[in-house]
Formats: sequence, structure tokens, C-alpha cells
Amino acid sequence: MKFLRYLSGERILPAYQPETGPAIDISAFTPDIDAAFLAQQSWKSFPEWLAAHGAQCPPADLSQGLAPCMGNASKVICVGLNYAAHARETNAPIPKEPILFMKSTTALTGAYGPVLLPPGSEKSDWEVELAVIIGKKATHVSESEALEYVAGYATMNDLSERSYQLERGGQWVKGKSYDTFGPLGPWFVTADEVPDPNELRLWLSVNGKVLQDSNTSDMIFKVPFLVHYISQFMTLLPGDIISTGTPFGVGLGFQPPVYLKAGDVMELEVEGLGRQRQEVRNRNVI
Ligand code: ZN
Repeated sequence: MKFLRYLSGERILPAYQPETGPAIDISAFTPDIDAAFLAQQSWKSFPEWLAAHGAQCPPADLSQGLAPCMGNASKVICVGLNYAAHARETNAPIPKEPILFMKSTTALTGAYGPVLLPPGSEKSDWEVELAVIIGKKATHVSESEALEYVAGYATMNDLSERSYQLERGGQWVKGKSYDTFGPLGPWFVTADEVPDPNELRLWLSVNGKVLQDSNTSDMIFKVPFLVHYISQFMTLLPGDIISTGTPFGVGLGFQPPVYLKAGDVMELEVEGLGRQRQEVRNRNVI
């Protein structure tokens, strides 16, 4: 199943994307696609509800844009340097165990942007990633049971302001958390539609030129291990998002580096999880 959230005036409304045809509004089934939706597990009864009530659901008017496909996440945990070729392009050693950092939940935005550059930003950069969405509370889970805690997956662009990340002292969180620096979606795709999260092509282009093109099979630390590993350090809650790292081809890795500027257009996709497209704009702060 593919669920999404869309903008309607000041509100965010829930929708369902069928295999064919336009998305439909499912406000009659749930008020939102969010942490509570997952925690209540009621979403598992959605196929039966859809069969009985789907014909009465109005089409979802997506003309105002999308919201991030998961609402009210308690946290976004990102994995750094999880592809060997990406670690090399950033002149970083291959990590012996996963590098973790946080991204503010307020950075999350819809799949179709826009992405806003912080005022004066000169080093904003792209990162296509597979995002894992947790379905039930996970504390000290074993690697063999880890996938039972995963509700589904989504495409993620883990944007970074490299000077904030690497030149301003302290943690990476500063460079990862600006508003709009986390397009998530278009869809939350339930795990039953993703038989092997460790075998998905993922790619990203800027202005039509493909700069990242890899496969999650190249991840150093795979999805079950990451869920197991992170759950040793913190409790994962329904709706929490794990962004699993980016492959080779970020702007920082070019000689000289290439960064985003207003007017650039990013397109990106993780196989089976839907395509994103964002235009980059300067944010004007008065
Ligand atoms: Zn990343």
C-alpha cells in the first residue's frame, strides 16, 4: 500500500495511492498518516475498509503540493558514510560501526519541494537515501527480528549545508536540519511491497544530469542491522524515520565541489518508492 499526505489550505490531509488511477482522500478512515496511525496498527485493516468504502472516497486534489509522507515522527535518525565509495569521496575512513546523527523533524517536507537555501548558503548539497519508517516501539531488538519493527519505506533527500555541517564546530545536526532539508515521500510504501530493502536502485539528478546512481545492496550496514544497532542506543517509536545513508556522487565529492544554487532542479528516486522533484530557491528572511 502507498499512503501520502497532501496540502489543502492550512491543513494536511491523508490519501491513498492505488496501483492505477489518481490518489484518493481517506480522511474518512484516518485523520492523518502519522505516528498515531502506525501505533494504533489500525492501518492494517485498511484493505478491508477500502473494499467497503473506497468507492465513496473523493479524489485527492494534489495541486497545492505534498507534505512529508509521515507526520509527527518523534525523530529522524540518519546514518553517515554508509556507502564505501561515498566515504572515499568525502576523504573519510570507512566506518567500523554506523555513524549516527539527528536531523530536526522540522526539516521534513513534501517530495515536490521547494528546497529553500539558508540565507547566504554557499555549500548546500544533495543526498538520495532509502528511508526506513518504524512501525512499533523498538528497544534492544535483535537483527533477526528487526524487520518486524519496520512499517515501510520512503524516498528521502537528506540535504546538507556542508559549511554548517563541517566547518562550524560540533555536530552534523547543524548542517542537516534547515527547513525543507528533508523531502520525504511522495509515498509511505508499506513493507509488504518491498521484499528486499537491501536491493533497491537509487539515483539523483541535478538539472537533468544523473550524479548519483547506486543500489542499496552497496550499503555497508544493512537495514536489519541498522534497526538493531540504533535500538541499542535509543527507543525507536512508531513513525520514526531512519535515513540509511547516501551513495557516491554528492556535490562535496567533486573537484572542485559543486553546490546547489537557486533555480536548480533535483530529481531523485528509490526503486519502487516513488520519484521526488524539487526546485531550489533562496529563502528570503527579513
Ligand atoms: Zn545522508
